[in-house]
Amino acid sequence: MPEENNRPAPIPQPESDYYWEQAKAGKLVFQKCGACGSVQFFPRVLCTSCNSTDLEWIESAGKGSLFTFSIVHQPPHPGFRNAVPYITAIVELDEGVKMPSQLIGIDPEPEQIEIGMRLELAFEELNDSISLPVFRPVG
Ligand SMILES: [Zn+2]
Repeated sequence: MPEENNRPAPIPQPESDYYWEQAKAGKLVFQKCGACGSVQFFPRVLCTSCNSTDLEWIESAGKGSLFTFSIVHQPPHPGFRNAVPYITAIVELDEGVKMPSQLIGIDPEPEQIEIGMRLELAFEELNDSISLPVFRPVG
């Protein structure tokens, strides 16, 4: 098997099955609490603010801004050997959720990347069941 196919993929859990199904369909969803209104990512059984189980799924419009980033030069796993250097990032969606992701479509050079830059959703297909939400610069 080629090394690029050995990249580890997320393993959906019961609380995240819906999230991964939607990602495979090209949609990014997050949870909103019906009791206190908090939004959260990643998917959980309970609201992280009030412990309510009254959570609903909200589809993101797929726009956000760069909260922080790091350029990865050392592969964290042999499956990433052909991917480095790449940009790992925390993206703040316009809906208020902060999520870990990866930036694409931009050189992994610090002078090319700006905190607060506008980003839009894209997907990277890892395998038959997992598509990863990633982000690229708007425009
Ligand atoms: Zn809550």
